[in-house]
Amino acid sequence: MNVLIVGGGAREHAICDAIHRSKNTILFSVMHNENPGISALAKDVFLEKETNIKPVVEYAVEKNIDLALIGPEAPLQEGLTDELSRNGIATCAPTKNAARIETDKEWMRNILKKYDISGQVRCECFTNIDKASRYMNDLNCEVALKPIGLTGGKGVKVHGDHFKNEGEAQQYIKEIFKSKIGGQSKVLIEEKLVGEEFTLQAFSDGTSILPLPAVQDHKRLEPGDKGPNTGGMGSYSGKDGLLPFLSKSEYEEAAAILQDIIEALAQESCPYIGPIYGQFILTADGSKIIEINARFGDPEAMNVLPLLQSDYAELCKAMLKGKVNEKKLDVLQKATVCKYVVPEGYGFKSMVGEPIYVDTDHIKRIGAQLFYASVNKKEGHVTTTSSRSLAVVGIASSISDAEQVTEAALKGVKGDHMYIRHDIGTDDLVKQRVYHMKQLRGM
Ligand code: AMP
Repeated sequence: MNVLIVGGGAREHAICDAIHRSKNTILFSVMHNENPGISALAKDVFLEKETNIKPVVEYAVEKNIDLALIGPEAPLQEGLTDELSRNGIATCAPTKNAARIETDKEWMRNILKKYDISGQVRCECFTNIDKASRYMNDLNCEVALKPIGLTGGKGVKVHGDHFKNEGEAQQYIKEIFKSKIGGQSKVLIEEKLVGEEFTLQAFSDGTSILPLPAVQDHKRLEPGDKGPNTGGMGSYSGKDGLLPFLSKSEYEEAAAILQDIIEALAQESCPYIGPIYGQFILTADGSKIIEINARFGDPEAMNVLPLLQSDYAELCKAMLKGKVNEKKLDVLQKATVCKYVVPEGYGFKSMVGEPIYVDTDHIKRIGAQLFYASVNKKEGHVTTTSSRSLAVVGIASSISDAEQVTEAALKGVKGDHMYIRHDIGTDDLVKQRVYHMKQLRGM
């Protein structure tokens, strides 16, 4: 079976790795920047911008692709799934309409309201600064400010983290309007939630879902959750599919929310097929929806896909045939810790073109997984771009052990101008998260 994977990040490297483990698959890749990990697995690579729909579809037709998977959100927004399907290529990813659940935050919030889905936050959209200010006054609490469209995870600003008072909030709203951040002169104002964030990803066939282990991502650049928001600095997952602060019933509640969203999208005549991603904040008052993504998370894909024992290509076929309820997900009962290596200055001004020396044999010996992200190749080693460079994932019987595996493996990654958030998955940080949740619950 010829399988095309669109996208060249670490998430797509993890997708390629999972598909490569499937029986009888031959991999093809479209990516704008060559990912050496993907190149090593693929039979053929087409270096092209993922959002250039016409050449991507032509390539897929020419290579007789039987199954296409799309990693990033931008080509979904451009309708790549729709166009591939129109050309007879089975594509396990949401259509442009279904992907609005991610690409249009206002529409997403409206769907939640219309179908009375639990886990909602108080929120409203505005195109007018005075009305926005009045709403913030009425809410009478701290807020999060969000552009409506895609911003690569970096457009959201939260009171206390990114601005200190109403004046600064108004300033940011003006900036969103003026620069059309996220593509529109519109802002979504949400009440600020306090709790612990977690991600729940699932496979959807448009009717049913198969949920994967929960993951906790770390969006902030610096240890102790300081600094600007990034695409994600690393993540961990627990052996039992839960997190140290997340109970089984809370996990099941979040899965039920994703199921309700899938049913709502079917009602809206845009059935959702492919991996779906729910980002939640567990508050003292239950799980609330922060955002829904129409794809795997990056880094969260790197926590769950290496654990997958089920044949991934077969799962994709089941999603396309509306038959995931006939499948049982076989997932290794292990904890994972993923840490990203990024260029020094990432989040402000990345040091580009700096060498990173990767000892792949060392990483293999330690038993960790290596996923390349955005790098260039030069004289036998890789060099940094402005984005995240590569991720290392440790897998073990506990989060603590997995963290140690990741750190041991990272000793095989060297460079004078790279940066890692070493606190991710450490006992100290995980304990703080558990303590934070206990405090919020008054325990
Ligand atoms: P998003 O792009 O919507 O995932 O938001 C980026 C980050 O902003 C999230 O990972 C949260 O840390 C934070 N955030 C978003 N919405 C809220 C909210 N309503 N309350 C508190 N934090 C939020």
